[in-house]
Amino acid sequence: MDLFQNKLSALQTKNRLRSLSMARGLDLSSNDYLGLTDHQTIKAAAIEAIKNGVGLGAGGSRLLRGNAPEHMALEEFAAQHYGFEKALYFANGFAANYALLTTLPSRHDVVLFDSLVHASMRDALYTPNIKSEKIAHNDVSAFEAALKKHRPDSQKIFIAVEALYSMDGDFAPLKELYALALEYDAVLIVDEAHSSGVFGAHGKGLADSLPRENLIILHTCGKALGIAGGIVCASADIIDYLINAARPFIYSTAPPPLQAYLTQKAIELSASSEGDLAREKLMALCKIAHSKLGGFGSHILPVILGDDKKAMDAAEALQELGYDIRAVRPPTVPENTARLRLSLNAKLTQAELGNIIKAVLPFAEKEKTAA
Ligand code: PMP
Repeated sequence: MDLFQNKLSALQTKNRLRSLSMARGLDLSSNDYLGLTDHQTIKAAAIEAIKNGVGLGAGGSRLLRGNAPEHMALEEFAAQHYGFEKALYFANGFAANYALLTTLPSRHDVVLFDSLVHASMRDALYTPNIKSEKIAHNDVSAFEAALKKHRPDSQKIFIAVEALYSMDGDFAPLKELYALALEYDAVLIVDEAHSSGVFGAHGKGLADSLPRENLIILHTCGKALGIAGGIVCASADIIDYLINAARPFIYSTAPPPLQAYLTQKAIELSASSEGDLAREKLMALCKIAHSKLGGFGSHILPVILGDDKKAMDAAEALQELGYDIRAVRPPTVPENTARLRLSLNAKLTQAELGNIIKAVLPFAEKEKTAA
């Protein structure tokens, strides 16, 4: 027990201790970008589905008795909606990313990953026998140099990126990376966790306009879509191979059929004219926030304060004012880049955003003068 007490004290001393707290105040920290987590249409669909006998628990893994019509329907719908041969639904995005990068690369292959990709990708790459190389963030020439270096003695090369980075809110150079993938016969894996539902035609994501060859896309379903899960979209061969070899898929209870059903409803809603309106509203908020607080024009705005304690104190002060703004510290972000992570959602009004900006600006400006 002492060992863990000591570890916790060490975290406390470094201002790195984490603890659970309830949501309170105006939401500026969730990933519920379209406000779908408590949407009436989805709630009504849930009640109706339960009345109609849609299963709550799957009761087993997909390959045994846990496969339900709702899983199959969602996957068929998602493949068509996102324009791929096939899709596969996981209980969450973490499992989906982890499955992709522990299953597809063999020891003859290499994974080139952006230095800021999510822990679910990074953790997969610690698996023995998977060769990988970290590439400087969004550095297209560094990706090209690595492709050149690895092409002669690699069977397959995977490039792993996020379409929109979760802690910085900046965009990956997807077109350039896709062109490189084609040139060097690599497979581009795009995690659309924070762009799905928000960007692209009808919220289909930032990689929606790319051709489908040499491309795998992950849409997570617990952020803008407001439910939970991760949908991998790819060629039929890749999906069939995941079904046969991905351990997080094979050896895990299938997600609740109700979850799959509601995820489909949420994709349909997000792609509807109501979804288009929510996106328009969100983009108007992004424009205002970008002009006052900087960032990259997306709905995720980092206010980098550097020091962990400074970020924690700023978050606490803003929470006192009624804003649910959270500090993000290392190891979630690189050392000395502790920050406030503001995320905007379509339910905020422009007047509310004006007040939030007024409250946050002093912290951002103090940092600028100190720098
Ligand atoms: N990818 C990225 C970029 C993420 O930010 C997250 C969640 N924070 C995930 C994957 C994992 O998705 P989920 O929350 O559905 O497990």
